[in-house]
Amino acid sequence: MSAHKLTTVLHALLCCVALVVASVAQAEISVITTTPSLADIVKQVGGEEVRVESLMSGRANGHNVIPRPSFVMKLRKADLFVHSGVDAEPWLPNLVHSSRKVELLPGGAKNLDVSTAIRVLEVPAADELTRAMGDIHVHGNPHYMLDPMNGAKVGRTLAAKLGQLDPDHAATFESRAIALEEQLTALTARLADDVNALGLCSVVTTHRTWSYFLKRFQIKQLAELEPKPGIATGPRHIASLAKKMKQKNTRLVLSATYGDVRSAARLAKAVEGRHVILAQEVNALPEATSYISLFETNVKLLALAAQEIPTGDEGCP
Ligand SMILES: [Zn+2]
Repeated sequence: MSAHKLTTVLHALLCCVALVVASVAQAEISVITTTPSLADIVKQVGGEEVRVESLMSGRANGHNVIPRPSFVMKLRKADLFVHSGVDAEPWLPNLVHSSRKVELLPGGAKNLDVSTAIRVLEVPAADELTRAMGDIHVHGNPHYMLDPMNGAKVGRTLAAKLGQLDPDHAATFESRAIALEEQLTALTARLADDVNALGLCSVVTTHRTWSYFLKRFQIKQLAELEPKPGIATGPRHIASLAKKMKQKNTRLVLSATYGDVRSAARLAKAVEGRHVILAQEVNALPEATSYISLFETNVKLLALAAQEIPTGDEGCP
């Protein structure tokens, strides 16, 4: 083969490689989410058509993340930025403004607030909006992903948005969101039976992280360790909680992997109960590797703790 012919063949080959690379790059929508749970839902719905990364780690407290400079770089390169809305991540407004991209600002084409389809709990009335109610949750309780059926709603919202960005795969995204909803519905029914069999009277939680989880699985919440969301507890509050828990035969204290776990453990000890650390996010605990296994893990941990503290003859006063 002549040198000229060889060059022509090489050129043709390089063009083919470039085309393949371009089509692969085009096929993937690059998504950045704030949390690992949202990233897992993006993965379920987006499949091979997306590449997704979460800014936060599973163990982080979304209320007080300190954004790293790399967050801005990641955002700037993303085709879509997915976040929880309802002021769950108060560090976001600064971050999206730092990106200097108008599409990433609230209402922009690349900014997706997935709370739009969610019925937010504990929304304060206008006259309650004072500093006295605490520093966070001013738009209601933002921990809605801890109800698996809210994850299904987020899946639908995501499918619609991904379908806009990649219309050729819109039907695929929609059918994956429907499949996810079916899976989560079956999971919820199964776990609800498991929780019901535990016969828990009620629980105390450190922060109002678990309101949606407890409501979905019909577990009564007696009180919280934090006197107000984001406000630290003290010995007097712990003593009054212990008294209340004994009266109600409540012996479980639930925490996330962050927050005042020491006070939670102290309170559980005071009532001869158990302190249980649950996964508030995908990857918050090693077993919670996906959105579905997060709920399986949490119900398993509740069951283990409940076995150790039988309700006894007192029942649930
Ligand atoms: Zn919170």
